[in-house]
Amino acid sequence: MIVILKSGVSQDRIDSFISDVKEKNLDVHVSKGVDKTVLGLLGDTSKLDPEDFLANEIVESAERVSAPYKMASRSFHPENTVVKIGGDGSTACFIGDGKTVPLIAGPCSVENEKQLIDAALAVKKAGARILRGGAYKPRTSPYSFQGLGPEGIRILEKAKKETGLPICTELMSASELKYFENVDLIQVGARNFQNFDLLKEIGKFGKPVLLKRGLSGTIQELLMSAEYIMANGTEQVILCERGIRTYDGYTRNCLDVSAVPYLHKVSHLPVVLDPSHACGIRWMVGTLACSAVAAGADGLEIEVHCNPEKALSDASQQLPPVMFEELAVKLNKYAAVEGKTI
Ligand code: PEP
Ligand code: MN
Repeated sequence: MIVILKSGVSQDRIDSFISDVKEKNLDVHVSKGVDKTVLGLLGDTSKLDPEDFLANEIVESAERVSAPYKMASRSFHPENTVVKIGGDGSTACFIGDGKTVPLIAGPCSVENEKQLIDAALAVKKAGARILRGGAYKPRTSPYSFQGLGPEGIRILEKAKKETGLPICTELMSASELKYFENVDLIQVGARNFQNFDLLKEIGKFGKPVLLKRGLSGTIQELLMSAEYIMANGTEQVILCERGIRTYDGYTRNCLDVSAVPYLHKVSHLPVVLDPSHACGIRWMVGTLACSAVAAGADGLEIEVHCNPEKALSDASQQLPPVMFEELAVKLNKYAAVEGKTI
């Protein structure tokens, strides 16, 4: 249930209203806008009647939220959430500020120190704001390269020091969280998007999260997964559309561009789009990236490798630096149409 308070109500009256609600065994999520305060009531509200709240003169309106996700919904939190990434030993990047479409770029996997540092320098030069690279790789085959694990994280930390870029990498198991203290943005991959125990632990950890949509995940399931992270303590969640499975196999996945405006409508969380995994084909990545900017995406995640043909994972979709640089120039032009920069 959401309760919207009248403007100009004193903090004392808001506090006493909140404590009355908490006595009903409910949690209260407070969203303070420019002139209105929105209270999201969390818990079993089934026995409450919204009309009863209207008797209180500080209440403007009260209504049930029909969606099963609450903290992630725009009705609970009308203003956009801006996620701050890095700033601690790196240059902070803001996702969801409505002014920028930051690029999160780097190789699919961290393969060795030289490979990652070269890619980090290349993406930084082109204008990327966050470095990505998988240290733990969710591979379909157990015989494929599985990532360097903690050593990969160490290499990412080194690249962060050398470039000043915040780092983004995927966590596959909560037992590895001990290595993620210096990671700026934790990625939850498509294959783990409904690993609820993992989501709970990530929520408790408190770092910003890039939550990817599952291969066959619905929008509602994506938002429910975001809710798991938020309900466990982390409100800094970025949703990521990365293509879904459909009947046709001409691309690796099918990019659901309409997820961007829809998610913006129903949720306040920023939406990043990953064109690389969406199509899986190098030459198509740029076109999908441009469509994402036009659709209002708050950022893009793009795979870049200095020698893509030799990459240990996702060789066919990673861009060489020259292609990425050209694309960044083009994306800036598309972003300008929306009044933004990359
Ligand atoms: C990745 O980003 O390298 C990755 C494995 O992505 P996804 O989980 O979307 O497949
Ligand atoms: Mn990949």
